[in-house]
Amino acid sequence: MSDSRDDTAIVWFRRDLRVHDQPIFTAAAARARRSLAVFVLDERLLGPAGKARRTFLFRSLRDLDESLGGRLLVVRGDPVEAIPKLAGAVRAGSVHVAADFGPYGRERDEAVEKALGERDVDLVRTGSPYAVDPGKITKSDGEPYKVYTPFSREWAQRDKGAPADTDASTVEWMQPSEKNGGPRAVRIPADEPPEAELPEAGERAAHEHWEAFVDEHLADYDDLRDRPDKPATSRMSVYLKYGVIHPRQLLAGVGGSGKGVKGPESFRNELCFRDFYAAVLWFYPRSARENFDPKFDRMPYDSGPGAEERFRAWQEGRTGFPAIDAAMRQLRGQAWMHNRMRMAVASFLVKDLHLPWWRGARHFLQLLVDGDLPSNQHGWQWAAGTGTDAAPYFRVFNPVTQGERFDPQGEYVRRWVPELAGIEGKKVHQPWKLAEPPGDYPAPIVDHKAERQEALDRFNRL
Ligand code: FAD
Repeated sequence: MSDSRDDTAIVWFRRDLRVHDQPIFTAAAARARRSLAVFVLDERLLGPAGKARRTFLFRSLRDLDESLGGRLLVVRGDPVEAIPKLAGAVRAGSVHVAADFGPYGRERDEAVEKALGERDVDLVRTGSPYAVDPGKITKSDGEPYKVYTPFSREWAQRDKGAPADTDASTVEWMQPSEKNGGPRAVRIPADEPPEAELPEAGERAAHEHWEAFVDEHLADYDDLRDRPDKPATSRMSVYLKYGVIHPRQLLAGVGGSGKGVKGPESFRNELCFRDFYAAVLWFYPRSARENFDPKFDRMPYDSGPGAEERFRAWQEGRTGFPAIDAAMRQLRGQAWMHNRMRMAVASFLVKDLHLPWWRGARHFLQLLVDGDLPSNQHGWQWAAGTGTDAAPYFRVFNPVTQGERFDPQGEYVRRWVPELAGIEGKKVHQPWKLAEPPGDYPAPIVDHKAERQEALDRFNRL
């Protein structure tokens, strides 16, 4: 039987750095006899990513290249120019991608599609980094959901599909050296020594990590997921960020009945949050930069040298509130922070220090290895009270009781704040009450009770 497929296609990796469960491989193999695997180093994304994320990306690319037998072509430049040139150089009939729904990715892909169209090459989108693609879940009148709970009910009903049965051999890969002209191949950049200790990159590491979580912690996830002192959450966010693993693979692995049913259910809810925030960003791209609730555009924030000094104290973990400082130091130490503490430090920045959420969000995106626009910006807006079904503004987290409740023995604080390592038990959350407070740890930089009232007064004046 004659093979009516094109001779070549391009598989363009972006946020899907894996070979298993790769629907774009199946689509490319159906369309062309062989494919060229490519990744474009795009300064517009690399620049703001921060060292930890860049390093993790480069390590993930090395792992992917190894899985592809050294046949990943890496080029540098603007994809809108590079991809069409490459399609010309290898005479591809199609370019295969997983759809990108972020504001930049969406615009970039439309421009690439147009440029490819001029050469008669198709941009074929198959799947996305989400369990349910943004835009697919709406109210019955077509309006987007702005509240999580009804979205999640609808999400739970949707078929997320089974993981696709693919590996590196699903596609016949072309050697990058066979291309004739087009953008120049570059090496995957060297790691930029990160200050933080990063998780191991790569698909095998992601799966091993996931399986260990399912065996050891999933059953207790619902009970313990708010405890920063316990290794109770999956830490899969970084692998999800780069698509080293797909949420569909996690959903297939959580099960959901019998013993420990609350764990899997609660875990699915968290994955749903990821889809919810991506959907919010899809419908409201401005929410990445602006208050979702415009009422807050009139909120006055502090400025001047005092405010800047307080911002630096927050960034460096020397606010004098042990739980806040532990969390901000965990962010530096691991390029990751526990979810409960992300909420607490965000509330502290906005409502105790009266600084705008986007300054904190930017700092997070520079340091987090899982830094992800929809989850980060909307997580911040939730804590700041400016977002979709946000914590009401008047709910102000108490930085001391958050520590006492969720780090009851003070282990998390002692781990990250060595100046307090000698203080036993929960007393570590209020060192200023000790007869002899440690001399090398700062006193609280603000009076929480007074600042809470100040935040409420500003809100009431809006
Ligand atoms: P688990 O508890 O094991 O959850 C499993 C997965 O569900 C996570 O990996 C993540 O993909 C998803 N998830 C869990 N909670 C949320 C949530 N609240 N919103 C969206 N998805 C969620 N998450 C990011 O991936 N990148 C970010 O940049 C980011 N910034 C945040 C900023 C703030 C201020 C807040 C409050 C939350 C932020 N989150 C972000 C969400 C959440 O804190 C992290 O996803 C979670 O801590 C990652 O750890 P984990 O993988 O162990 O989570």
